[in-house]
Amino acid sequence: MGKRRIYVAYVGGTIGMRNTPRGFAPAPGFLAQQLAENPLLRSPELPEFVLKEYDPLLDSSNMGPGDWLRIAEDIRVQIDQFDGVLVIHGTDTMAYTAAALSFMLENLGKPVIITGSQMPLCRIRSDGFDNLITSLILLERYADRIAEVCVYFGGRFLRGNRSKKIDGEFFAAFDSPNLPRLGTVGIDFELNWDLIRPPIPGRAPLRVQVIGDATVAAFRLFPGLKAESLGHMLESVQGLVLECYGSGNAPHRDKAFMEVLRQATARGVVIVDVPQPIHGCADLSLYETGQALLDVGVISGFDMTPEAALAKLLYLLAREDSVEQVRALMQTDLRGELSLPEPG
Ligand code: ASP
Repeated sequence: MGKRRIYVAYVGGTIGMRNTPRGFAPAPGFLAQQLAENPLLRSPELPEFVLKEYDPLLDSSNMGPGDWLRIAEDIRVQIDQFDGVLVIHGTDTMAYTAAALSFMLENLGKPVIITGSQMPLCRIRSDGFDNLITSLILLERYADRIAEVCVYFGGRFLRGNRSKKIDGEFFAAFDSPNLPRLGTVGIDFELNWDLIRPPIPGRAPLRVQVIGDATVAAFRLFPGLKAESLGHMLESVQGLVLECYGSGNAPHRDKAFMEVLRQATARGVVIVDVPQPIHGCADLSLYETGQALLDVGVISGFDMTPEAALAKLLYLLAREDSVEQVRALMQTDLRGELSLPEPG
């Protein structure tokens, strides 16, 4: 076995599922059994690893902030005894978990890689062994040079809070549309060291920010939307990710719509504008419609994914006392999750 020790947190997902009369479902012990039966997992190229199976194992579509907290706490407790962490997770909400962990794990000094698979390990054409083995090799080779939450999937090594599930069928299911990949794995490993966040010498100890009970929501604009329905939603939330058109545009000539936004931001609701196109940036200073949103108190989420914006809202609403501070930090790069538009 390789020289490093890796903690493997098996949270759930298709990778370890078994076919049941009601469709694929997580099965306790099944993943461990398949790893034990596969001689490749005992290759000297791999690190030593300790597998912890969560109870219950979850289809990630059943996961929420309480589950992110459980993973973050588990990592905090274990990380000093290991060189890095691999989280085995379902693909459906993997991008949300990756973004949430990137914020919650403050002062992270080691790599956390999240992976899973499109097909379960029990199927002959599963992509699961390759995703697991390559993630473990990444950790074996580079654990001391990476200090961030990443996703490895289908040959792509991505910043976790930039990742997005872009495909429900093909094995290259994730990408980071607004940031070059941290690496690409084919025959060779090609890592983009200029982008990868290294450990910071002398950093403070790892701290987990508990994500509390803040109520947030996401709303995707569509032509013909009724301001009233958005208004109802805004009455019950502290933060909203507003998925707007193009570069963050919205129907600013709709007076009722603008008034609903204005009243909500005046009450202290944090409304963050992110772009609907999977590649792009919500730059509210570009068009008149964007400027009108700024005028009613909406803030720009720039090129954050909706997943990252939602996780960041939950994180900041739990951590900061003032709404003004939440608004300011939403527009600040905290973990490489956003880039500001180039001037001009
Ligand atoms: N529904 C599954 C999950 O997210 C899908 C997968 O793992 O690919 O857990």
